[in-house]
Amino acid sequence: MRTDMDVKAATSSSALPGTGPVERVGTYTREELAARISAFHGTAAPGVVIGCIMIDLAMQQLPEGILFDAICETADCLPDAVQLITPCTIGNKWLKIINLGRFAVSLYDKYSGQGVRVFLDPCKLQGWDELRCWFLKIKPKHDQDSDLLHTQIWAAGRDIYTLHPVQIDACYLKKQSKGPVGICAQCGEAYPLKDGATCLWCQGHTHYTTPALS
Ligand code: ZN
Repeated sequence: MRTDMDVKAATSSSALPGTGPVERVGTYTREELAARISAFHGTAAPGVVIGCIMIDLAMQQLPEGILFDAICETADCLPDAVQLITPCTIGNKWLKIINLGRFAVSLYDKYSGQGVRVFLDPCKLQGWDELRCWFLKIKPKHDQDSDLLHTQIWAAGRDIYTLHPVQIDACYLKKQSKGPVGICAQCGEAYPLKDGATCLWCQGHTHYTTPALS
């Protein structure tokens, strides 16, 4: 059951959208956010910083106090931003990834599916060349100016993002149950019986081999 953390997330205290440079994301300053992202993601990756700003912006558009879920349209960086500043994680299934390769995320009421989608808008990046080059992969990574990129991310404010309302399809609102569990006759491990007579690994969905012990 979600209570305090959701309410806190849904009532993020940032400044209003489109009012100059971003000063804070939720309660975090630029330095605090960078430290938190580094601790979670490994580095203060620009994509996670941008993701946090996007999500903070989207949260401000949600009705106060609702329980919301998230859908990311990329597996790069953005899911970590969701996991950092909202209660939604992959593991609790409040965050889903539908990998369309677009740097966009939707936050929505988990019951009604009504919500908001936000994306970094390539049409709004004029004047933010380092950011544009990074986003559109115009320059190789070693030619990028990381300090300038981060400066532009914060200086560009919230006007470089586009938000619009969404209604999430009903099939994504249903709780996906694993169903009954059994023991695979072939490997002896537990698996969801809906997968078939044996587990998926034994049906050939392999991602590893077992080297012979010497
Ligand atoms: Zn098996």
